[in-house]
Amino acid sequence: MERNPLEHLLKYNMDIGKTKPNTVRKASTYCPFCDATNLKNILEKRDTMIWLENAYPVLKDTWQTLVIESDKCNDDFSSYSLAYAVNLISFCLEKWDQVKAMNKFASVLLYRNYGRMSGGSIHHPHSQIIGLKNYDYHEDIKHYHFIGTPLLHEESLEINLSIRPIIGFYEINFIIKNHYALNYPVLYMQKTAHYILTQISHSYNVFYYDFPGDTNLYVKIVPRFLTNPLFVGYMVPQIATEEETTPFIDKLKQAILT
Ligand SMILES: [Zn+2]
Repeated sequence: MERNPLEHLLKYNMDIGKTKPNTVRKASTYCPFCDATNLKNILEKRDTMIWLENAYPVLKDTWQTLVIESDKCNDDFSSYSLAYAVNLISFCLEKWDQVKAMNKFASVLLYRNYGRMSGGSIHHPHSQIIGLKNYDYHEDIKHYHFIGTPLLHEESLEINLSIRPIIGFYEINFIIKNHYALNYPVLYMQKTAHYILTQISHSYNVFYYDFPGDTNLYVKIVPRFLTNPLFVGYMVPQIATEEETTPFIDKLKQAILT
């Protein structure tokens, strides 16, 4: 079916956006996720994780939900214990599948932000699960966005540096072939996030994807910088030269696989 490009976007409701708290740019602001007793529209609690509806649903034609990952405001995915991180990712994947199974959405997003360049507004660690009524991200995101120079290539897990990133420069792809066995993938994901925060940038995102007819789970961990203007103006993604990517891959391998 031919898609209408004028409909292939999300509308952001500025009136709700203006009232949304921001604890990323304003460090002293009250944190709504620490004030757990006043949280509304909770969908499910498990340990210290809470899945709930977003109190500021700024995106039109979507169902915006959040997983508050921890009861500690300064925690981050990169520093959770492995057992906690595995439980958290399992919970997020389960809820993501649950929203997909509602069959109400053209596609469902699962991602998290960390840091002031990541697009997040609440510092308290959380992931987002968003059902898009009319927008199917698979029209834009393809398998080739996950092809890359391998850091690890095993039967159940591939980790690579994207050679055809969505934006660039460094998009680290995880292709998880049996997502019931999450220990190793999550350990490597945590180490990648830690490496980004200590060596590359103060901000990163984690994005999750699946594709129809493909049982693999795809994850992108992306250090965030100012967006490349060639992408903003011309949709041209960039990658680093081989002289730069070879030592980058060696250092990242050293950091996450050993
Ligand atoms: Zn908090």
